Amino acid sequence: MNEVQNVIENLNMWVTNPKSEDLCCFCDREIADPNSQVQRIIYKESKRYGDTMKRVVEFTAKRVFIARCKKCEEVHSSISLLRYGGIQFLVCIVAGLLLGLMQGYWFWWLLGGGVVGFILSGYVYDNECESRAKRANIKAEAEVDNFEPIKKLLDKSWTWSKPKV
Ligand SMILES: [Zn+2]
Repeated sequence: MNEVQNVIENLNMWVTNPKSEDLCCFCDREIADPNSQVQRIIYKESKRYGDTMKRVVEFTAKRVFIARCKKCEEVHSSISLLRYGGIQFLVCIVAGLLLGLMQGYWFWWLLGGGVVGFILSGYVYDNECESRAKRANIKAEAEVDNFEPIKKLLDKSWTWSKPKV
């Protein structure tokens, strides 16, 4: 049996605009709204032990708050994953299945379609997020990785995903 344990309590960390505590980190213009702040959890593996029967990974989690204004939240949340990614994914799956049925190896073609669709839909979604942010003259949500306090954490091997056993 494998286990992932969070042994240390959640620590809170606020990422605020270096210029002013109240300014939105994404546009640098508007006053941040507490209801619009981005809330994310960041993880770091702290200990790993056990044997082949049972392996345990311990990690620390930090809750990160990033100051954001209402207008930027609206831009960030206006993108439908179904329209930008979902449809493309479905088209690839169906195309893979149809081609597979014609070729006789439907399973492998379906799997291939799924993989291509997954990569394509991720690209389409990220691209739309980026271009919408650019049009609104703000930073995209994914750009938080470049914010100085977050960058420091990522450099010290903190990750956005939970450590795996
Ligand atoms: Zn803003």
